[in-house]
Amino acid sequence: MLLQWFWIPLGVLAVVVIYQQLRIYQIHREAKKHEELFQIVTENAADMIALVDVKGRRLYNSPAYKRILGYSAAELGETSAFEQIHLDDRFRVLEAAREARETGVGKRLEYRVKHKDGSWRVLESLANAVRDDKGQVAKLVIVNRDITERKRAQEQLEHNLFHDPLTGLPNRRQFLERLQTSFAQARGDAGRPYTLLLANVDHFKVFNESMGTVAGDHVLLEISRRLTARLRQEDAIPRRDGGGVATEVILFRLGGDEFTILLGGVGDPSDALRVAKKMQEAVAAPFTVESREMRVSVSIGIALSTKEHERPEDVLKDADVALRRAKALGGSRCEVLDEGMHSRAVGRLRLEADLRAALTGQQFRVHYQPVVELATRRIVSFEALLRWQHPTQGLISPYRFIEAAEDTGILVSIGHWLLLQACGQLRDWEAARLSDEPINITVNISARQFADARLLNDIQQTLKETGINPARLQLEMTETVAAVDPKLTITVLSHLKHLGIGVILDNFGTGATSLRGLRQFPLDALKIDGSLVREMQTDLASGDIVELITGLARKMNLKSIAEGIETARQVEKLLELGCQYGQGHYFSQAMDAKAAQEFVRAQGATVRARAAAK
Ligand code: C2E
Ligand code: CA
Repeated sequence: MLLQWFWIPLGVLAVVVIYQQLRIYQIHREAKKHEELFQIVTENAADMIALVDVKGRRLYNSPAYKRILGYSAAELGETSAFEQIHLDDRFRVLEAAREARETGVGKRLEYRVKHKDGSWRVLESLANAVRDDKGQVAKLVIVNRDITERKRAQEQLEHNLFHDPLTGLPNRRQFLERLQTSFAQARGDAGRPYTLLLANVDHFKVFNESMGTVAGDHVLLEISRRLTARLRQEDAIPRRDGGGVATEVILFRLGGDEFTILLGGVGDPSDALRVAKKMQEAVAAPFTVESREMRVSVSIGIALSTKEHERPEDVLKDADVALRRAKALGGSRCEVLDEGMHSRAVGRLRLEADLRAALTGQQFRVHYQPVVELATRRIVSFEALLRWQHPTQGLISPYRFIEAAEDTGILVSIGHWLLLQACGQLRDWEAARLSDEPINITVNISARQFADARLLNDIQQTLKETGINPARLQLEMTETVAAVDPKLTITVLSHLKHLGIGVILDNFGTGATSLRGLRQFPLDALKIDGSLVREMQTDLASGDIVELITGLARKMNLKSIAEGIETARQVEKLLELGCQYGQGHYFSQAMDAKAAQEFVRAQGATVRARAAAK
């Protein structure tokens, strides 16, 4: 029995031992399985897997190393895992490895590693700590993935975003970013200036259309190559302030045949002009297109940074204005939009806004200058002349604003207003029986007004509203306006004639109207330009011309009027040369309606007194 009791613990012990043995066997088998698995995974993984000790010595390198970096496991041996890492990245990787050892947690890292052939590969790696029995980090398992291709594709994508596909030059997007930076720097405390050169190939459209776009692309590519090569030598523009060199010279292709150069640190127009000239030289050499030798030229607009620029685009606009000027002057030129030009342009914008305000704010006035028959001094008409009663600057002559008003088109509205004023005034004078003799009213018409389809309608409406006799109204247009579009001139003048309105060719003798053209126009009078009247006595040729004009007028059955008469001798001479009518300060300046009225009354009295005395 006792013996029986003895066997029981022995049996239990045996079971425990057997169980333990089995467990150990099982663990061994699992470990072996794990080891095999580890081996299978690491040996076949596309990624490079390394096991390093805490000192960074390599304990294991998977075969992928050979495939990706060219080194065999033996070559890597027990070398330091950091040896092949790019010097610029090494510190970062060492730091990350130290952190992984200390914390047991690795970070995802990107760094460059040297291939056995000397090229660089980009790796993405993740380290994981392996702890020993005491829980201390003993080793690091590092999984490295080769992301060189992905990186390259990414870089290409980024490159495409900021570069022109044809020439590889930085594109408009990059240009706008750079410009923004330069703009900010110019505005900053240092006030670093910059200059923009906008270049455009002359007649490129014609070239493209006649030679085809392939040839066109070829030329653009060649231009970009030449400019790049030439600008490389330009990197060292000496700075006027002695502060070394301009740090930036960047060529961009904005699209089409438009290139631009940003000169960072350059604030002197002559430096910019020098660069522009070199660009033109580079392009000037002949190109071989489809085995033909051809030459192209570029026009360049230059704009410098100024304090007046409110946005980066403003300087681009300035460069564009300068470029357009270069083109308008015949192309193959460089034009600088200087600061003076800029403030003039700004002043012009302000003037335009003020003109609009003046029209609605009733700041315009009409002054009248009498036109007399030279022989009798009898007033035959009044020329209506525009004046601007400026709230702060006083009365302004149209010479100062008429061009801006014309350019913006507001002169058409002002002209309509003036026509109504002048005709209304004539109606009032007629109603008041101001003069026994009929008086005419003369109104100046600008080129824009003349070409505006509303002109005839405005005139008809004005005649209807004021009820004046159309024969009392005369329009003055300059020779140049008449010559712009002779066909249109004939049509409009015929209509005016049909309405019974007279037409005077103003400032005659200064332009270049052909005689044949003159005959075609249904006119009533030629107004001899004031400059001829002024020079008549000193310059014999002017006297001859005045005589020719009066003779011509007579032959064509037109009246002749001289303007700008300032002396009695001029009156005499004009009479001698056969001129019938005249106006000028000698008789009277232009005056407001009330003064004009007084003038007529006084003159009427003189004439009556003279008649009574006879
Ligand atoms: P314009 O038609 O040749 O007018 C003659 C200009 O010479 C006027 O200047 C007149 O005041 C000035 N003048 C008259 N007599 C003399 C003189 O003896 N000596 C000198 N030195 N000058 C004299 P104003 O009024 O300043 O007008 C300048 C120009 O503005 C005009 O030249 C005309 O082209 C334009 N203009 C004036 N009013 C209008 C208008 O209502 N519509 C349009 N489209 N143009 C106008
Ligand atoms: Ca005139």
